[in-house]
Amino acid sequence: MEFIYNIPTKIIFSRNCISKNSEALKPYGTKALIVTGKKSAKLNGSYKDITSALDKENIKHHLFDRIEANPSVETVREAAAEARAERADFIIGIGGGSPLDAAKAIAVLASNDIDDETLFSGIFPVKPLPVVAVPTTAGTGSEVTPYSILTYNKIRNKKSISSESIFPVLSLLDPAYTETLNFATTVNTAIDALSHSVEGYLSKRATAVIEPFALESIKILGRSLKFLTAGENPDSGTREQLLYASMLAGIVIAHTGTTIVHAMGYPLTYYKDIDHGKANGLLMYEFLKFLKGSSRVEKILSAMEMTLDQFGETIDALLGEKEKLSDEEIALFTATAESAQKNIANTSIPPSGNDIREIFIKSFR
Ligand code: NAP
Ligand code: ZN
Repeated sequence: MEFIYNIPTKIIFSRNCISKNSEALKPYGTKALIVTGKKSAKLNGSYKDITSALDKENIKHHLFDRIEANPSVETVREAAAEARAERADFIIGIGGGSPLDAAKAIAVLASNDIDDETLFSGIFPVKPLPVVAVPTTAGTGSEVTPYSILTYNKIRNKKSISSESIFPVLSLLDPAYTETLNFATTVNTAIDALSHSVEGYLSKRATAVIEPFALESIKILGRSLKFLTAGENPDSGTREQLLYASMLAGIVIAHTGTTIVHAMGYPLTYYKDIDHGKANGLLMYEFLKFLKGSSRVEKILSAMEMTLDQFGETIDALLGEKEKLSDEEIALFTATAESAQKNIANTSIPPSGNDIREIFIKSFR
């Protein structure tokens, strides 16, 4: 057996975890830049809980609340300029994967005056500022990963920064914040989390220590997705399970990375504005079919207590009508995904360009 397990993030998971643990914010400095999306952090109580905890610990704070979904390099540069002007010692990201990923990139750019190439290289002259993460969707697991995924208009795609130095130092997970999520975002983010565990489990980098995390989250997410086909928002117990499962799935990809599904999903988001989790979900059935016969696919299905076809039906029921792709789009998206050599090589059976094209065609049939 051979593995490295490395999650340098302190994880606190409980209801009211921020007010119960305000002193956990103390070690990171005397001024925080809080990074959020436009609205949700103010509506679900997370922003108020963080500012109360900071006030209690005499930590000053400044808000940047202009992070868009799939944050761009331009936006994180703008926020980093505010972090420097405000002399922030650390960054607190509150929200879905978009504000959390943005917080990590802002932490890098606040302490480094670097070009885009160096930003995406993951090797930084100066250590990034510490990042505290407060997830309010149950999907990306960004609160426990060393990744920040940005929209990079220069290459007309999304691109990842991967660096151990951007793991959040502290993550505060309170399932109550996810209770304001609408049904569509609840479904899409749950599917994103499932995609992380499924891809991690089917990755060449899967290890013995990670597999139980993957299978446990697949089990919870399979059960939850079946529940969601009734079309109703989950109860608070299920919300808690979803947040737990998405965190486990984040720990999985922190070790394994993602595979061809995420690489195929990025152009769907960039060009067709398909939500990140939905993009992965649209591709997952055909991806599993491509790997059919692998004992690992059988283990995934048995953890979800579904056959492959039942899984396909569940996903179809949840995602509703599929977007249409033209032949030109399929060719462009195939070429874009083919350039993600790392993701292809990381897939247990690396797909050829033709395999990728076929997965696109069949997924959108
Ligand atoms: P998101 O883009 O962060 O948020 C989607 C929407 O949900 C926004 O409109 C947001 O509103 C709203 N929202 C967030 N929390 C809410 C709540 N508690 N109640 C009501 N509405 C809420 O969505 P996401 O799917 O979590 O994140 C997707 C991003 O994460 C993508 O950029 C993806 O590439 C990235 N990602 C990163 C990793 C990683 O390891 N770093 C892994 C997977 C995906 P506001 O804008 O008002 O906040
Ligand atoms: Zn994802």
